[in-house]
Amino acid sequence: MRRIDLKTASVARSDTIRDINRQIVLNYIRERSPISRAEISSETALQRSTISLIVDELKSQGLIDEMEGESTGGRPPMLLRLRAVGPIAVGVDLGTDRTIVATSDLAGRILEREEFQTDPSSKETIRKMIDCVKRFTEKHQGIEGIGISLPGLVGPETGQALFIPHFGWRDWPVADLMKAATGLPVKVDNDANAAALAELWLGRPEILQVRDFIFVLVEQGLGTGIVFDGQVYHGVAGAAGEFGHMTIGKDAPVACAAGSYECWEAFASEDAALARYAKRANNLDNSDITSFAQLVDRGLNGEQEAQSALLETACYLGLGISNLLKGLSPEAVIVGGRIARAWPIIAEVVKDAVEKNSICRGLPSASIIASTLGENPQLLGALSLVLAGKFAAWLPT
Ligand SMILES: [Zn+2]
Repeated sequence: MRRIDLKTASVARSDTIRDINRQIVLNYIRERSPISRAEISSETALQRSTISLIVDELKSQGLIDEMEGESTGGRPPMLLRLRAVGPIAVGVDLGTDRTIVATSDLAGRILEREEFQTDPSSKETIRKMIDCVKRFTEKHQGIEGIGISLPGLVGPETGQALFIPHFGWRDWPVADLMKAATGLPVKVDNDANAAALAELWLGRPEILQVRDFIFVLVEQGLGTGIVFDGQVYHGVAGAAGEFGHMTIGKDAPVACAAGSYECWEAFASEDAALARYAKRANNLDNSDITSFAQLVDRGLNGEQEAQSALLETACYLGLGISNLLKGLSPEAVIVGGRIARAWPIIAEVVKDAVEKNSICRGLPSASIIASTLGENPQLLGALSLVLAGKFAAWLPT
């Protein structure tokens, strides 16, 4: 039961109930599309006349379409679905290596994308980001907002990047700069939080029913996004979810972004796997490897050293996950990033490591799955920062 926050609460007006019903109808259409008015009415117990009023409003706002369904004898039913025409959001996934900018429709389908090398200078990177974003926003009138996902500590309220360890950027007012250049609303979050948000809103049906889960984003570093009761938990100043820096051992194969050899990230990140591979493949002719994607390719092709490096990393991934389970007891843990492609190789070892280290736990077990969003949940996360706002529960402010 959530305690009421008297600082932000306002009393329920008569239109509060209408707003809540509007969001319920919109979410039925989003999740069960195509769906008829009659089906929504029988599932929600809302009157047909109320639903028709809401449908008219959603249609006039350009959020939904109506199409003719198949006839079962009489007049064919009219079915409702999200409007699929044209881009509505721009997402920017700023990665330590590449930055990807893309547009999507209301349902989160990616329509166009561009990418460039992320520059170590924040000034140069924002210049490229703005160029790219403006090409999309000037071409498409219907774009309503921009979402940005960043590999570091972000204040979602202020839209500031507080610290991006890989580049050493501090107090970077990225949302303000983007807003000033485009005139559009801008939302910013940490990449693991954004990925968790995408899984919450755009994940496959099996994850849509889960309201408490942890997203473990494995990249050059490692971050986590905590979803608690159907929303991302941010903590004070957006700093929650820094489990990548929990102490897990000594003498990791690489240092974490902050320079420690004891953090989970230093044992279970892409860089950790690459360092293990470099050590093992020392004497091989083809030990030159430049990217984690290549390592996964080699593992999937059956190369022994690549598989061993991935499996050793998976062991530490499982060890860290078992610690999260002990503290938070989520319904599921979702592992995402490029490592999701290696899931057929590593899944069993991750789960075994969780099992082995959960011996003193004795609580219900969580399902541990690879992300349902493919290899770039951060990009869908950036888009979700805009899209989720259209569907989220209406809250009095
Ligand atoms: Zn650390």
